[in-house]
Amino acid sequence: MQVNIPVIKGEGSNHRSRLVLHFPPTLVEQPIVCQLVKKYDLDFIILRADVELNKKGLMVLELQGREGPLREGIVFLQESGILVQSLSQDVSRLDDRCTHCGACITICPSEALYLDRGDRKVYFDQEHCIACELCIKGCPVRAMEIRF
Ligand code: SF4
Ligand code: SF4
Repeated sequence: MQVNIPVIKGEGSNHRSRLVLHFPPTLVEQPIVCQLVKKYDLDFIILRADVELNKKGLMVLELQGREGPLREGIVFLQESGILVQSLSQDVSRLDDRCTHCGACITICPSEALYLDRGDRKVYFDQEHCIACELCIKGCPVRAMEIRF
């Protein structure tokens, strides 16, 4: 099933998209990401990978490139049989549960959770999140959620 994945404008003509890829066992050993970056002239950063031979695999990555090829590349992944989700759809904070205690600020390796020195509140910036899950256990009131 194809779903619309957000693509964000970066510097110049560069665009980027952060994706969660769910590989079925039949595709875990296939070099699909290599084919993707060659075919569509994209750059990629792997943020996380849990892949075991003959089992399902999960990869979180950021793709970068020109907008058209980037969108075509995402469709290529979907048509290959990989379940593709946007990372921003998978990590979220329940704002009404957050007490702004600040415990997650030092835990978060990417500064996606940060203190605003103006109002002294803690904010979550999905754009910087790398889905490491450290804040899930670190938050005393379970305000952070991840849906892989
Ligand atoms: S640890 Fe939880 S409650 Fe505390 S600031 Fe972070 S998200 Fe909010
Ligand atoms: S999952 Fe939590 S700790 Fe990890 S980068 Fe995202 S916000 Fe930070």
